[in-house]
Amino acid sequence: MENKNINPVSGVKQIIAIASGKGGVGKSTTSVNIAFALNNLGKKVGLLDADVYGPSIPKMVGLSGKPDTSKDGKKIIPKEKFGIQTMSIGFLIDEDTPMIWRGPMVMSAVKQLLYEVEWKEIDILVLDLPPGTGDTQLTLAQQVPISGSVIVSTPQDIALLDVKKGINMFHKVDIPVYGIIENMSYFICPNCSEKSEIFANGGAKATAEEYNIDFLGEIPINSKIREYADKGEILVNKNEKNEFKNLYTDIARKLILKLEENISIKSPEIKFVD
Ligand code: ADP
Repeated sequence: MENKNINPVSGVKQIIAIASGKGGVGKSTTSVNIAFALNNLGKKVGLLDADVYGPSIPKMVGLSGKPDTSKDGKKIIPKEKFGIQTMSIGFLIDEDTPMIWRGPMVMSAVKQLLYEVEWKEIDILVLDLPPGTGDTQLTLAQQVPISGSVIVSTPQDIALLDVKKGINMFHKVDIPVYGIIENMSYFICPNCSEKSEIFANGGAKATAEEYNIDFLGEIPINSKIREYADKGEILVNKNEKNEFKNLYTDIARKLILKLEENISIKSPEIKFVD
């Protein structure tokens, strides 16, 4: 890790942070499907829901209840689904209790979720960050040993402005941006198969080009993706043929390559937006 002051996370080899400029773009849905796709590709995967403002991962992976603690009482044991070790603040707080999180509280909660959990032999920990690119996310990125990051965005302009802020944020703390994923990229009508670009299309690709970072793929808007997330079932683990499985698996494969190369794709020509 470049920053020598950051402590490694016991039991975890590498961390990929999944970020977004704002909430509701499908960051958690993407994190879940990528985590399971990485697992299907033979990696030992952990999934940490650091979105303390709205922890949705327990519901999306169909896990609930309080986690166990280790025999010495010092660490929390992550919950498992298909071999993926999962941890979320959602396991620890009451779903109906409104939580008001201020920056320092978010930091200490996320650090506890990382360092006080008994992760076992994890190759890749998928870290679903809180939405946004403010001070909280910046401090987090500075204090956690992240190998690389991925930014999820919808294709329209406003969301893309936030992407640019996200890219700048990771560059400030010297974390490579492995690429951008465009979610809700297009819609294929189930009746007539016509493709509609509801939120426009291609914006994320253009931004990736502009910043000289990789475009990792586009995921359509589809009710199946939402339905599986709502049911707590894992879309990429379904035997039935579905195009989404291939899309998420392709992205997961690219991320494995990035981690193996461990190359910084930061461009010297990067332009900063204020
Ligand atoms: P975020 O983590 O960015 O706040 P979520 O992953 O919670 O966003 O997704 C917000 C909502 O959009 C959820 O109801 C989810 O099921 C839905 N969703 C996400 N991606 C897609 C997609 N590609 N197609 C259809 N629905 C999606």
